[in-house]
Amino acid sequence: MRHLAHGRVIVRFGRSTAQLVSGDLDILSAEERERFSAFRNLVRAVHFAGAHAGVRRFLARELGCRPAEIRFDRHPCAGCGRVGHGRPYIRYPRTGWELSLSRSGPYWLCAAADGVRVGVDLEPARRTGFAPLAPAVLSASERGYLAALPEHRRAAGFVRCWTRKEAVLKAGGIGVEAALAGVDVAPGERRARVRLAVPGCEVDSWLVEDLRVGPDHVAALAVAEPGV
Ligand SMILES: [Zn+2]
Repeated sequence: MRHLAHGRVIVRFGRSTAQLVSGDLDILSAEERERFSAFRNLVRAVHFAGAHAGVRRFLARELGCRPAEIRFDRHPCAGCGRVGHGRPYIRYPRTGWELSLSRSGPYWLCAAADGVRVGVDLEPARRTGFAPLAPAVLSASERGYLAALPEHRRAAGFVRCWTRKEAVLKAGGIGVEAALAGVDVAPGERRARVRLAVPGCEVDSWLVEDLRVGPDHVAALAVAEPGV
């Protein structure tokens, strides 16, 4: 497990084992255990349990409580009002900490910050068949960025754009119904300022950057820009 220091944002990149770790299930909520039991694929179930137990242990250290005590909930999605994909928050203990979680296979990525909205996304680096998606998802300048890359780097370039967009949308608490092509994440810049207005949120400017998580994955972190 690696810990990526990032100013006022704490980021944890973890990997679940293929077998259930003793005590993982014990610290999950009833709802998380239900989701664990609903998986048809045992390995996926174990990855789910390992990630959620890992997140609980990580947050418990920061919040000074026991992992099993933490209760999560979701705000309604700022776009469509549904709760299933809204921004997660910590219902107990009472705290101003914000969090975001993304999983890919056995890997999980969690960002947390006190009083600052955060979003993370983690995706496998190798993606094929993205070309048909590009016009609907990418802005004109992002398509230009991709076109300027050597062909063998375009798939990774697309995934970089995608993870950055997802990270911004998650920080904003809005589902993919936001017009993705309108969210320009300036993939050519190491740290980009992204404009996204979200209903009910006073912040409309987000800083997004890639996180280094090894050669097989691409990850991005978005943080509400302070004082804007
Ligand atoms: Zn929605």
